[in-house]
Amino acid sequence: MTDPKPTFKPEELLGNLRGHSFLSSYQLDVFCFKNGNGSPPETGWKLCNSLLPADLCTRICQPAVEQALKSVVTSNQPAVFHCPLGLLNFAVPLNSCAAPLCCVIGGGVRERSLDLFKLETIARTEDINPMAILDQLQKLPAVNEIELLRVAQKVHSLIPSFQKEEHHAVYVEKTTEQLNAIVQVSADIDAAATADAVVALLSETLGILFDVPTIAVALPEEGDRSFSLQRTWGDIPLDQTSISADKLRRLIPGFATDVIVLQGEDAEELIPAGMADVLTCIPLISASELFGLVLVFDRELPTRDLLLTQIITGRVAGKLRQLQQQAEYGKETSLSDKLMSIISSLALTEGQAELIRQVLDMGADLVNATSGSLMRVDDRGENLHIEAAIGMNLNLARSLNLKVGKGIAGRVALNGTPLLVNDIEKANLGQGVNRPRFKTKSFISLPLKFKEQILGVLNLADKKDQGLFTEADLELLTTFVEHAAAMIVRTHSLERAAVLEKLSLTDPLTELYNRRFLEKRMEEELNRSARQGLSLTVMLIDLDHFKLYNDYNGHIAGDKALKKTAKILRSSVRDMDMVTRFGGEEFCIILPGTVKREAIFVAERVRRGIECEPFAGEEELPLGRLTASIGLSAFPEDGDTATALIHAADVALYQAKADGRNRITFSAPPQEKDVAQVQEATKSA
Ligand code: GH3
Ligand code: MG
Ligand code: MG
Repeated sequence: MTDPKPTFKPEELLGNLRGHSFLSSYQLDVFCFKNGNGSPPETGWKLCNSLLPADLCTRICQPAVEQALKSVVTSNQPAVFHCPLGLLNFAVPLNSCAAPLCCVIGGGVRERSLDLFKLETIARTEDINPMAILDQLQKLPAVNEIELLRVAQKVHSLIPSFQKEEHHAVYVEKTTEQLNAIVQVSADIDAAATADAVVALLSETLGILFDVPTIAVALPEEGDRSFSLQRTWGDIPLDQTSISADKLRRLIPGFATDVIVLQGEDAEELIPAGMADVLTCIPLISASELFGLVLVFDRELPTRDLLLTQIITGRVAGKLRQLQQQAEYGKETSLSDKLMSIISSLALTEGQAELIRQVLDMGADLVNATSGSLMRVDDRGENLHIEAAIGMNLNLARSLNLKVGKGIAGRVALNGTPLLVNDIEKANLGQGVNRPRFKTKSFISLPLKFKEQILGVLNLADKKDQGLFTEADLELLTTFVEHAAAMIVRTHSLERAAVLEKLSLTDPLTELYNRRFLEKRMEEELNRSARQGLSLTVMLIDLDHFKLYNDYNGHIAGDKALKKTAKILRSSVRDMDMVTRFGGEEFCIILPGTVKREAIFVAERVRRGIECEPFAGEEELPLGRLTASIGLSAFPEDGDTATALIHAADVALYQAKADGRNRITFSAPPQEKDVAQVQEATKSA
């Protein structure tokens, strides 16, 4: 024989009744007799409102309650009945809705005056703490029997409207209304700009549509180790602002995937200040990811409400996901903007040392590190040298001797693979305990690589908020150091070229080429002249009495005079002629493709140029002016090597000095027509 089934759905009926505000403080359920015999309620009705252990409650109250319920369904009249503890309940028969032997029962309220004697007796015989029961009883709303009977009669009068079709129609109508409301709210949720606005909308919707007294929302905090807790609906004060993920996992296994209802102590342990007997935890899930938990206090939502709730929580989770993605994208774009501006400002950095310092500063800035160092691998690839440091004295840092292959940075330098460590003491890096100069145990160590060459290592530690470095930090830094390494290589080679050029080819005071360059180029020019059958003249110029000039006017004035002379020399010759500082106050000019006779004119221009140029303090000199003597020699007649030609010019110069200075002399005894030419040039220059 099968049990007579009610022709209505208890949940639909109860859902509808709960929509009436006069029933808001009652716990409602449907109780049906099997074949006329009393059966325990199917939907978990607790007569004692969880005041007593369930078995005890059943034992103490069941007979009286069953008796009362039986008389209700038999008389088809609503009734009020007491439980021995002082709780008040009402029962309304459902016979009129074609569900024989069923009734709606309501409770969760107490009598205004409690029978302490009865309470004490039960507590004594059952060995329970009477004060604990009393405390709980006092929290319940107090009503009197007459009020309660009125409530029962009101429910009774509503029952006919729940006649199968009608009730269903009401139910469908309500559901449609709620669905419409959800559709409208969904549009608002989609348009919300912040997670706070989304959460507020969600809470308001659940609060209003399903008549939920209190709602809180727990949102995962960074690192997912805890959830921030925020009361979003109702007025229960919550003194707690977060829940650890561990506690959630312990109390609600599966909280991240399913709707879970916590009862009694578990509910209280999760949120003690909430004082909830029942806590419904609804996860906010989108694409299998948990975006938060909605905690509904003191309400176990019926299936239909839960389904509707899940439509909206699904929508909310999707929106939270979208907002999070937007935030991350925004962070990424602003980070890549930052990266770009950092990289372009690096490009403007002058000099290797400055660049290295900037790379470290900017790398640290990108990931909020407060200490770190940049190490370079030496030319032999054996040692690492700290070239810039944050959070430690650079001079001390420089004294640290590090070998490639040894220690953390040494290994990064050897392997060329970056290292992201959350806890150095647990990372099995052979480092042992964290070094005292670091505040946190998380760090990042990246190789500075250009092509396959490892130039050095960038080490960063101590994140500002004492947090852990993340994969995202590592990714960002990897892009950054790639550019930085290329720039270090570029400035290094540029600088070396510049230094080499300055060191080996030019004279820093006059910026003329130096003697080393002259000798190198002269050989090349002589070869070319020989090949092409061209002449080449060498002109040696020596300032007269320059020692005296220095003595009178000081070394600085002497330097200025040398610079001025260099300018006169440069402006007196063609671009193709090489003007060099030969040493001290001696200069040498190479005039390719120029025969000695032609060079005389150039030499005279030089001599006159110096003679006519005013030099500070030159009046004291024996000739009253700063002047120069010039010796000339030429290829091929005076020699075919640089040494021979310079020697010949030097001999001529010596001769010019001997002849009284401020004059031009040839290396070889001049022939008649050459002498005439000099005289003519001297006149016409
Ligand atoms: P002379 O007419 O015989 O050439 O006499 P001098 O004094 O010019 O010759 P000497 O070779 O005796 O002295 C060269 C002086 O040039 C010596 C030094 O004081 C000066 N001198 C050489 N190099 C520099 C320089 O870089 N700066 C300055 N201020 N003086 C220099
Ligand atoms: Mg000299
Ligand atoms: Mg001199």
